[in-house]
Amino acid sequence: MLTCTLVLLEMGYDKEEIQRRLMELKPLEMRLQLKKGKNNSSIIDDSYSNDLASLEIALHFLSQQNQYSKKKLILSDFEGERWTPKFQEKLQKLLSLGSLQEIIFIGSRLDNIFVSSDTQRTVYPDTDTLLQNIGKHDFSESVILIKGARKYRLERLSKLLTEKSHETVLQINLNALEHNLKQYRSKLAPHVKLMVMVKAFSYGSGSFEIANMLQFNNVDYLTVAFADEGAELRRAGVQLPIMVLSPHESAFEDIVRYKLEPEIYSVRVLKAFIAYLQAKGLTDYPVHIKLDTGMHRLGFMEHEVDEMLEILLRQSRVKVRSAFSHLVGAGDPQLLAFTQQQISLYQRLVKKIEKHIGYSFIRHICNTSGIVHHPEAHMDMVRLGIGLYGYDMTSTALDLQEVGRLKTTITQIKRLPMTETVGYDRKGRLRKDSVIATVKIGYADGYSRRFGNGVGEMMVNGHVCVRWAISVWICVCWTLPILMQQKEMRL
Ligand SMILES: *Cc1c(COP(=O)(O)O)cnc(C)c1O
Repeated sequence: MLTCTLVLLEMGYDKEEIQRRLMELKPLEMRLQLKKGKNNSSIIDDSYSNDLASLEIALHFLSQQNQYSKKKLILSDFEGERWTPKFQEKLQKLLSLGSLQEIIFIGSRLDNIFVSSDTQRTVYPDTDTLLQNIGKHDFSESVILIKGARKYRLERLSKLLTEKSHETVLQINLNALEHNLKQYRSKLAPHVKLMVMVKAFSYGSGSFEIANMLQFNNVDYLTVAFADEGAELRRAGVQLPIMVLSPHESAFEDIVRYKLEPEIYSVRVLKAFIAYLQAKGLTDYPVHIKLDTGMHRLGFMEHEVDEMLEILLRQSRVKVRSAFSHLVGAGDPQLLAFTQQQISLYQRLVKKIEKHIGYSFIRHICNTSGIVHHPEAHMDMVRLGIGLYGYDMTSTALDLQEVGRLKTTITQIKRLPMTETVGYDRKGRLRKDSVIATVKIGYADGYSRRFGNGVGEMMVNGHVCVRWAISVWICVCWTLPILMQQKEMRL
């Protein structure tokens, strides 16, 4: 921004115009791609460019990864940087910050760079020599940052270390997720805690990748649907408190082993969990009481609260960490009266629970649309769900970004006259001579059957293709790659 400002000043633009134009500056895509590597590893592919500033960003991103304890760096020489003593000093300093287990340098100038004695260090003159010697390095159980200048063509290395994947991928933009998180956060008073729903593997968009980002952004709580999702996050090094929405008895062992916190939604679950803790000799285990104020899925109904309290008062195995409820229609103005009724019933029940158990706990009722439409009900914490993933059906107040893109490539292109049809049952009738492409995606890749027969849309290089009444396998297009937009991902 400073550079732009100075250039514009030099060129004689006035202050107002400069200010206006600076507002139009967009942050650069960081190009950091997190991929699944072979032998239990993660690859951070940042092989587009190399300079100290982007190296610092990439090392920072590397340090946010907790899924494997070992961190490694493959670094090529720099392009376009003058190799001064000052530059060398800066680079050395940067490399010593990240507590790296191993650094592999490519380029003989890097021979002069020394790093801490705890870091294993190898220098190769060029990428080819590294590729020939790749077997000498152990990359298992590691997060590996591949960072290099274009001319070193490190994409060959990243291809070699990455697990083979199909050409059909669901890309998740972590920057967009972070942006959406900040949008909702801006709606919260400073004392309001933020719980983020990462159930069903973050609404289908990932697991530790997203949890690491949320942990880095200091959210207060994560929530999963089942204990095994929570266990996976713990094994990937996620330390945040994690609530489990649906804690089956068979999962109690995992819940305790991985320090997960169950939602208690019925007398049966409460008794069973207390009995389990008793057998293990544990006390004061944090639990979350779910109150049913109108959703009528899980939770204690008002008439069951007395029985729950009686049980709670007789024991010291569990400790209420929070009591919460779920709003049915927080974003629907026609349901305003019902929402208000839910909130006041909730408040009445919570007061009663607090009075009887004699200590306070976290109170929360707002989901995504509650955050936007009911700031008066934020209480101690809110639970952000679908909005984080870029979908908020009830509000346009926030500037949300699309998070997921389902991408594939074209297998074959055909030119067909108008008289032909495409696909099963001759359903794909052409309205004119057409160019038809077959793409590498099917139902097994998550492409919904509902998108068939002309319902779904695909984009080729950013342009929506003409919609045809044809089967899902085929679409008209001219160039690579195809990009599909799933318009709906509500669970
Ligand atoms: C899924 C879920 C949420 C999040 O709801 P959104 O509408 O996606 O924000 C909040 N609370 C509970 C109990 C949930 O199961």
